[in-house]
Amino acid sequence: AEAHYTARNLESRRIYNEAVKHLPGGNTRTVLYYDPFPLATVRAEGARLFDADGHEYVDLLGEYTAGLYGHSEPAIMAAILEALQSGLNFGSHHANEAALARLIKLRFPSIDLVRFTNSGTEATLMALAAARVYTRKNRILVFEGGYHGGAFSFAHGDSPVNAPYKYLVARYNSVESVDAVLSDPTNAQDLAAIIVEPMLGSGGGIPGKRLFLDHLRKTANTLGAVLIFDEVMTSRLHSGGGLQSHLDIRPDMTTLGKYIGGGMSFGAFGGTEDIMSLFDPRTGKIAHAGTFNNNVLTMAAGRAGLEKIFTPDAALKLNARGEALRQRLNQIATGSLLKVSGCQSIMVIHFTLTPEEHITCPQDIADDDKALSDLLHLYLLEHGYYIARRGFIALSLAVTDTDLDGFVKTIQEFLTQHQSLVT
Ligand code: PMP
Repeated sequence: AEAHYTARNLESRRIYNEAVKHLPGGNTRTVLYYDPFPLATVRAEGARLFDADGHEYVDLLGEYTAGLYGHSEPAIMAAILEALQSGLNFGSHHANEAALARLIKLRFPSIDLVRFTNSGTEATLMALAAARVYTRKNRILVFEGGYHGGAFSFAHGDSPVNAPYKYLVARYNSVESVDAVLSDPTNAQDLAAIIVEPMLGSGGGIPGKRLFLDHLRKTANTLGAVLIFDEVMTSRLHSGGGLQSHLDIRPDMTTLGKYIGGGMSFGAFGGTEDIMSLFDPRTGKIAHAGTFNNNVLTMAAGRAGLEKIFTPDAALKLNARGEALRQRLNQIATGSLLKVSGCQSIMVIHFTLTPEEHITCPQDIADDDKALSDLLHLYLLEHGYYIARRGFIALSLAVTDTDLDGFVKTIQEFLTQHQSLVT
């Protein structure tokens, strides 16, 4: 399969070989690398990617959820061009900043006040800083398989370069594990924050159980710790108010990112007035800098997206289409090792060890068959479908039903052709 891939993609290989001379492994974003070399995209439009060798792909990766609007949404393009014509890099306040903040608050009732950053990673950094200053405590409860940015990664077997906080690591979806970690009185007394993805995104598309997330809310209340929901990926779910609206759980703080900046660099953190007031420059408890925090292109694109395109109704429709796709895929894969986890418009394709296996925590997918995932990935690329090497899919608004029908048919063909491997 790899030899065939190489022969089809000689120009991408040439671009990669040049990149290796200047960037470690030719790469500046680890997750985008795959063997034998990654494709180079030259152009994108709607839900289509065009690579350097002239192949066309249906983009089902959707930039890990940041590409919600597709590659050329007219209202987003118009907003960016209009902002561009008014000039770059003001170094001052401007009206779109508050407009975007207002739109975010409308969707997330738990957010009284919000601040912007350039990435989800920075949003995590600032939320944890706020929790520590607010509680005057230090420890942070995180979950195995959790991902809150490049400096906050808790995947099993990872060798992350994490920010040096005092982390307590519990098992995702396990109330018992949380209680066990906090049965140590020092851990309980010094707990500043619990940070959790209401669905593990990078960790494999594993939804949090209501019981588990409720338990985190209660635990944070009891111990006087700050409950932070990382909704950087999940904010698009249900009617666009994230999993917290759906579950009716009110975190003290929320981190956001990805599509909410309209497809431009973006991150945000918000929460109760009490906590967020720490950032009020008039009282100056926590200084929060960042040259591009309120950059005019992101603020304009983000505002246009929430105001004009990703309305609650549009969110419900996209998410229903995602759920239908996931069910169809699981249907055709019944009895095989292929399983699709996730929620609505975000999903992950796995190859489990046995056809009966259920996926409820990261430990369930630790022994997944990576060779089969690699094989499927190359097969999909050859047939014109772009997903992440490890099976991650995020639908954009630009993907059509015809695209999805074609994708289901291609997965079906893969299962038929590789029957001896996948059952
Ligand atoms: N939190 C979650 C849940 C994420 O999925 C990500 C990015 N994949 C981040 C935080 C970090 O965001 P960024 O890549 O913008 O730094």
